[in-house]
Amino acid sequence: MDKALIDRPTGPAVVVQNSSAVSDQTQILVFPSPGQGHMSPMIQFSKRLASKGVRVTLVITTTSSNSIQTHANSFKVEVISDGSEQGNKKSETIEEYLERFRRVTTHTLANLIITKIKTSTCTPGASESEFKLFVYDSSMPWLSDVAQQHGIAFAPFFTQSCAVTAIYHQFHQGAFMTEPSATATMLLPCLPPLGIKDVPSFLYDHAKSYPSLFNSSRDQFSNLSEAKCLLWNTFDLLEDEVLEWMTSTLSRSIMTIGPTIPSMFLDKRFEDDLDYSFNLYSPNVDACMKWLDCQENGSVVYVSFGSYASPSKDQMEEIAWGLKNSNYNILWVVKQSEKEKLPINFVEGISEKGLVVSWCSQLQVLAHKAVGCFVTHCGWNSILEALSLGVPMVAMPQWSDQTTNAKFIEDVWKTGVRVKVNEKLGVATRDEIAWCITTVLEEGSGMEMRKASLKWKRLAKEAVDVGGSSDKNMDELVAKLEL
Ligand code: UDP
Repeated sequence: MDKALIDRPTGPAVVVQNSSAVSDQTQILVFPSPGQGHMSPMIQFSKRLASKGVRVTLVITTTSSNSIQTHANSFKVEVISDGSEQGNKKSETIEEYLERFRRVTTHTLANLIITKIKTSTCTPGASESEFKLFVYDSSMPWLSDVAQQHGIAFAPFFTQSCAVTAIYHQFHQGAFMTEPSATATMLLPCLPPLGIKDVPSFLYDHAKSYPSLFNSSRDQFSNLSEAKCLLWNTFDLLEDEVLEWMTSTLSRSIMTIGPTIPSMFLDKRFEDDLDYSFNLYSPNVDACMKWLDCQENGSVVYVSFGSYASPSKDQMEEIAWGLKNSNYNILWVVKQSEKEKLPINFVEGISEKGLVVSWCSQLQVLAHKAVGCFVTHCGWNSILEALSLGVPMVAMPQWSDQTTNAKFIEDVWKTGVRVKVNEKLGVATRDEIAWCITTVLEEGSGMEMRKASLKWKRLAKEAVDVGGSSDKNMDELVAKLEL
């Protein structure tokens, strides 16, 4: 990996050269959902679009307004309320949070649009509605109604894989409504045979059931026929068969625009695009890079469960001893809120061979030549990053779409192995975890996975580079905005 990539990011994320292909009036509104794994891809999408001359206004809510670095050169930011500033929201359940978020943003987004329309009609020469398109995270389907009420064309942006969406689609069309047995195999078009552990957890995992999340997995299909286009953070060759099937099933063309990784980690066309410009937590970049610089090539196991997942205390203990017993060097991200789950004196005990940090720049870590394996919870962004940077994986899915992503890592893209959960204990054991790590890192057993990872790294770069499938789709989108 180019050494420049692992230097610390400096300055603005992207300096955009406005192309003359689009008129000055071409503006779009982009509204990501506030989580780390939703903000990052839509911010990167905004930067790429801005590089093609489109003026982007990014709508963020009060919850995430402190975590973003703004970039006057690539997008404007408008902050709207999600109601979080009124009183103490810490005791809210997920269900209460989602209900409040939905209720408040319906109003505050409408107010923002009305204000913008008023401003533009008072400006001589400005068109009536300044926004040509409203792009929103498909997990917030109610927002399309707001755009429609104000006469603005809309497009959902899918921050999950197309395979996961295809499973939701078929489930909500009536497939497998009766819960299959633990050993049953589900056969769905264009997907590998799936067991109950391979489909998104919202469908059958009653212990972790959230009706609002289940409902939004259904509602994201409610208005697709009226959308101007469908945008997807994936790339054609990664999901070719399922993309083709979804295109014909929905009778809509799907615009793949991913992977939405900062340019300097992929095509390197935008030299200041080194990071996502959004961090929920402060990354401990220096400590990680200094430590990685001292390790041998391919010797480090990087471990992260993303921004949200929270394995049980028993599971954390098994992970800790599995990592230690594997005898490799370990860089483990354990969020501050999770640290109490670590075995006593574990951090001190591995100091010779390991580093535990509360957050890092994952892209810089994965791009470092010392990293040979990624133990991941299989969040969609983490997977796209590992594929784009050619790092083989140990898949330890926790919930949501991660289970399906893990299936694809092991059986379709063949870039890793999946940790088996011991059904009796309800956790993956230390021996199983250590075995998976060794399988990926050992010279012989890991060879095919390393080869496959390098293949996907090349294909991911080609997709976003000039003339690649995702780059062409971005051009097509810009052309659509002009119509
Ligand atoms: N991430 C990071 N530093 C960390 C851990 C994670 O920057 O220490 C980033 C990672 O690069 C990815 C995002 O957080 O872009 C996590 O998104 P993902 O979809 O993988 O999982 P989620 O957090 O949504 O469960």
